[in-house]
Amino acid sequence: MNVSYKDLGLVNTKEMFAKAVKGGYAIPAFNFNNMEQLQAIIKAAAEQKSPVILQVSKGARNYANQTLLRYMAQGAVEYAKELGWEKPQICLHLDHGDSFETCKSCVDYGFSSVMIDGSALPYEDNIALTKKVVEYAHAHDVTVEAELGVLAGVEDEVAAEESHYTKPEEVIDFATRTGCDSLAISIGTSHGAYKFKPEQCTRDPKTGRLVPPPLAFDVLHEVEKKLPGFPIVLHGSSSVPQEYVDIINANGGKLPDAVGIPEEQLREAAKSAVCKINIDSDSRLAFTAAVRKTLTEKPAEFDPRKYCGPARDLMVELYTHKIVNVLGSNNKA
Ligand SMILES: [Zn+2]
Repeated sequence: MNVSYKDLGLVNTKEMFAKAVKGGYAIPAFNFNNMEQLQAIIKAAAEQKSPVILQVSKGARNYANQTLLRYMAQGAVEYAKELGWEKPQICLHLDHGDSFETCKSCVDYGFSSVMIDGSALPYEDNIALTKKVVEYAHAHDVTVEAELGVLAGVEDEVAAEESHYTKPEEVIDFATRTGCDSLAISIGTSHGAYKFKPEQCTRDPKTGRLVPPPLAFDVLHEVEKKLPGFPIVLHGSSSVPQEYVDIINANGGKLPDAVGIPEEQLREAAKSAVCKINIDSDSRLAFTAAVRKTLTEKPAEFDPRKYCGPARDLMVELYTHKIVNVLGSNNKA
């Protein structure tokens, strides 16, 4: 049975992006796969009155089930109201849709926004596929994110060896012919907790930690010039907080040389036409760090609430930090 996101209390990205571009901040797009993650996202967003995008990847759909995730998002709207957020601005978004059929099924199933990722296809094929999704989605008032350029890294089933920066000379043609509502571009962000190989980085002589190469702000600024005011999206924008990596490694984990995007660069991007920043790995790291630490300190514990609870608390802290100190989306909803 088809259902409209409007009946679930969700919103599409149109208004939140327009305000974010004008206001010089970015909307957080947090992936979720389970209840604790969703609770933490909603708690942080409700407390900070930040519009928020709940992202569901193909991996999440396989792990948790698409139907269940949709009802969880519906529940999240009600939970947000219970927390005192009168008019929650919550979008349910398909992350990296890989076909027209997947996108259609999400539109029919209560998603308010979808991404069609044709970035691995030849340019004209990407346009044709994106256009087809846009036509269907717009008929249901669902917004569409498209992608030009290729990000390196691994995220669920999305993987590429090398990145290819978005070509600014293509963006006007692409946005005009597809009618997409926002565009994910490649400027050096990357999926996963290992965003760069050690040989791409320098090493801080004091700490011994890897220092990643800077984002290609020149490409971003060229794109902004070509498409003034058009909503731009950054994928793979976790910062891989080293304190989480250290906790994980100190408690039996093994994440050597995990490295992300420095937050000051994301802060700078959020002030530009970048109005959606995707963060997934950081929440995975927070969850894992809290679980590992709790289980090390309390080896006799076997009640999942006793280690998922601290994980949820740490994720609330992380999401709140991102909203307030990196994206600047607090008090915008
Ligand atoms: Zn992505």
